[in-house]
This record gives sequence, C-alpha cells and structure tokens, in this order.
Amino acid sequence: MNCKPRKPIRRKVKPKKSRVLWRTGRVIKKGPDMRDLRHEVWLRSQGYCEGDDCNARIFENTMEMHHVTFRSHGGSDVPENLLALCNLCHRKAHGQ
Ligand SMILES: [Zn+2]
Ligand SMILES: [Zn+2]
Repeated sequence: MNCKPRKPIRRKVKPKKSRVLWRTGRVIKKGPDMRDLRHEVWLRSQGYCEGDDCNARIFENTMEMHHVTFRSHGGSDVPENLLALCNLCHRKAHGQ
C-alpha cells in the first residue's frame, strides 16, 4: 500500500526576494513571500475553487490566484483581495 502523499516537485529556481518599488512603495511579492501568500489563500479555500457555483478541486501548486481588485487598479497582494480559482474560473474572471 502506498498512501504517502506525493511530494511536490521542486523546481530549480533562484529564490527571488520581494522588493519595494521605490516610486510607489508597492511591494512586489516573489519567491518565499509569494509561497506563503498562496498557502494562506489555498488554506482558506479548503482545496476547492472559490469561483461562483464552482467546487472544482484545486491544489496549492495548481490553483490560480485572482486579484479581486486588479493590481492595476490599486489592489494589493493580501489574502482578502485574492481568490483561489481553478483555471476555468480564472479565465472567466478575466472575461475569456
Ligand atoms: Zn486573475
Ligand atoms: Zn472554478
């Protein structure tokens, strides 16, 4: 019996650090910070897409984070402004 959860595949990427844009003070989250954020959003979703009428199973490594208020409209990278969506709902959210 093999009941062990599969280990996530680790990609070889250089860890990028968050940086603050000096002009706007906006924090660009990358690397470890982004992973924490994803994790938090994913935990809240309890593993299911947060799209309307959608209960698709999503996984931390495949879910797509959607900004409720787009970053281009001043939305920020906080869990309250993010939705854990499956691929389909994310496309819908962007009107595709
Ligand atoms: Zn989006
Ligand atoms: Zn969905």
